Amino acid sequence: MHDETALTHFGRDPARFDGVVNPPVYRASTVLFPNLAALEAASRQPFTGTYYGRFGTPTTFALEEAMAALEGAHRAVAVESGLAAITTTLLAFLGPGDHLLMVDTVYGPTRFFCDGLLARMGISTTYYAPDSGADLAGLIRPETRLIFTESPGSLTFEVQDIPAICQLAHARGIPVALDNTWATPLHFKAFDHGVDVSIHAATKYVVGHADAMLGIINVNAAHHERIKKTAVALGHCAGSEECALGLRGLRTLAVRLARHQATALTLIDWLSARREVRCVRYPAWPQDPDHARWQRDFRGASGLFAVELAPCAPEALAAFVDGLALFGLGYSWGGYESLLLPVYPQHTRTVTPWAAAGPWLRIHAGLEAPADLINDLAAGFERWNRAGGTVDS
Ligand SMILES: *Cc1c(COP(=O)(O)O)cnc(C)c1O
Repeated sequence: MHDETALTHFGRDPARFDGVVNPPVYRASTVLFPNLAALEAASRQPFTGTYYGRFGTPTTFALEEAMAALEGAHRAVAVESGLAAITTTLLAFLGPGDHLLMVDTVYGPTRFFCDGLLARMGISTTYYAPDSGADLAGLIRPETRLIFTESPGSLTFEVQDIPAICQLAHARGIPVALDNTWATPLHFKAFDHGVDVSIHAATKYVVGHADAMLGIINVNAAHHERIKKTAVALGHCAGSEECALGLRGLRTLAVRLARHQATALTLIDWLSARREVRCVRYPAWPQDPDHARWQRDFRGASGLFAVELAPCAPEALAAFVDGLALFGLGYSWGGYESLLLPVYPQHTRTVTPWAAAGPWLRIHAGLEAPADLINDLAAGFERWNRAGGTVDS
């Protein structure tokens, strides 16, 4: 079955719900059992049916089934945010005295969790460069319990060699986790490349409308119980309303992503020709340094990329950003709307050199008409130039 068909049919069972197309939103804490024997039987296998609200409802299970099937996972575990999916995964594999290999270009809050709570628990983290492959072997210690990847990297979009990392990790019995939020289950099939745990901030493209927080942990058979037990132990559970919004978002994921990608490429073609733009990072763009690796491993792209502007005075950057009519200024991405955010990658990396002299912007290409977005950016560069423009350093 092709992904578009799977998106339309997975996680649904109209016959169970009087023919209603979508699974209903179950509001549940208590689940009643007909007798003591049934309750005791359910207690022996709490992860197989509806057992208690915190363990999930039929709405949760519908989303989990769809997400797992799309990516070829054994099962999925839904939690209440992308960050909860990340911290659950880290805590499922790591304990005092253990060692973690973490990609240097990881999402900032993941890094803060490693340097903060994990460090306090006596878990040490070594950051490695995103272009590491076989050389990662030199960083592995006897107490290394997990290799964490994120590809492309947050803010700067370096593509990792996930198959090579999985190969060297598995040869040493170490599992590999991936933050796969950018590509979604459609555009990077994590389990085909050897990943054990694929994490999604479903808040972004899966929900797709900037109206809910949601995390999904897709996991293989070997590690499902460990992940689910950790999520339950930590008290994590996704709300049923949010799971229903995640399912609704999935139905249109393929068409939305195709448009996000096309618009991103249109904006990049225009931006890269501007003299105010020094560099673009988007692996689906043929001139990106990681384009060949992206082409080898990915089936498509989403709409998030970065550009470096020429060095300028802070007033010029503010004039550019503040006057934008269509690009919103705010965190997160993956909704239907365009966003533009100055970001500071140099503050969240320690082993990857940072050479950009000008402002670094993260741009989310939304579903607006590309010509309107280009007009908005063109007006922004006019304001930028009026406010002093390029300051050559
Ligand atoms: C946003 C994001 C997260 C966190 O997701 P939340 O739902 O906001 O907690 C994790 N990883 C990446 C790559 C993200 O962009």
